[in-house]
Amino acid sequence: MKWPVRAPSGRFAYVNGRYLPHGRAGVHIEDRGLQLGDSIYEVFRAEAGQLLDENGHLDRLERSLTALELPMPVTRAALRLILRELIRRNRIRDGIIYLQVTRGAFRRDHPMPEGLAKPTLILTARAGDLAGAAARLSDGVKIITLPDERWARRDIKTTQLLPAVLAKTAAKRAGSAEAWLVDGEGFVTEGGSTNGWIVNAAGTLITRPLSRDILPGVTRGVILSVAKEAGLAVVERKFTVVEALQAKEAFLTSASGAAVPVVAIDGKAVGNGRPGPLTLRLQALYAGKSGSGQS
Ligand code: PLP
Repeated sequence: MKWPVRAPSGRFAYVNGRYLPHGRAGVHIEDRGLQLGDSIYEVFRAEAGQLLDENGHLDRLERSLTALELPMPVTRAALRLILRELIRRNRIRDGIIYLQVTRGAFRRDHPMPEGLAKPTLILTARAGDLAGAAARLSDGVKIITLPDERWARRDIKTTQLLPAVLAKTAAKRAGSAEAWLVDGEGFVTEGGSTNGWIVNAAGTLITRPLSRDILPGVTRGVILSVAKEAGLAVVERKFTVVEALQAKEAFLTSASGAAVPVVAIDGKAVGNGRPGPLTLRLQALYAGKSGSGQS
């Protein structure tokens, strides 16, 4: 069978133990990931053929699986080998590796099938749009703000992404790269697929503390540690959209984008409307730090 996914020939996906041509890879029609959103995912970045922050992503993968009583489909060591083999087969130097674990295929019924562990593991890989990424890093992006309409366990990286789909579609239609989602009290939670940061007038870096309200971004963690190592003032606390508009700088972090400057929010310039010096410094510090360490 050929799925209607356009991909250059020579691209491979991994499905439950097999490397398949991307256009022919698929899962069962009754997979619980497809029917119930009963699944979790991870996104890894490869640079110069090496995985960035690999341990952080594997740690979060195990955390998401545990939170939803999903079994680890293969050992961590096996997963490291699969990730490398997929990078090799797809001849990826710079790009993204997507990984998803679902509870598997069962007769459709909401409760988890007790005692029957047969998770589906899929991985795909795609060479990155480096020109676009480089432009975003140097020129910055515009964002919009929207109410946060997601569920109460945003700390688990599930594939239930409809709120993010809607928010990011609205952002795209507004000519923006991201939507910052705002809680009922007016505080920014995070972006549709990124964590949010501001730099206040005193030069202090501010980002929302970890809780069930946001995804514990792996890049967020690396940026926090490089900022602290560099002796920068950092505070993990909530901030409002008004505060962000009065900030000197704002930026987004994610595996696919490191620290991306935000130059406008809802059509209003942040700072002088140009990427800020601290954001650019953090980009450089991140580039020197995010290794492929396997410890
Ligand atoms: N917040 C959300 C909601 C996300 O979906 C993501 C990434 O997909 C992030 C933050 C950034 O996380 P990371 O730095 O691990 O890519």
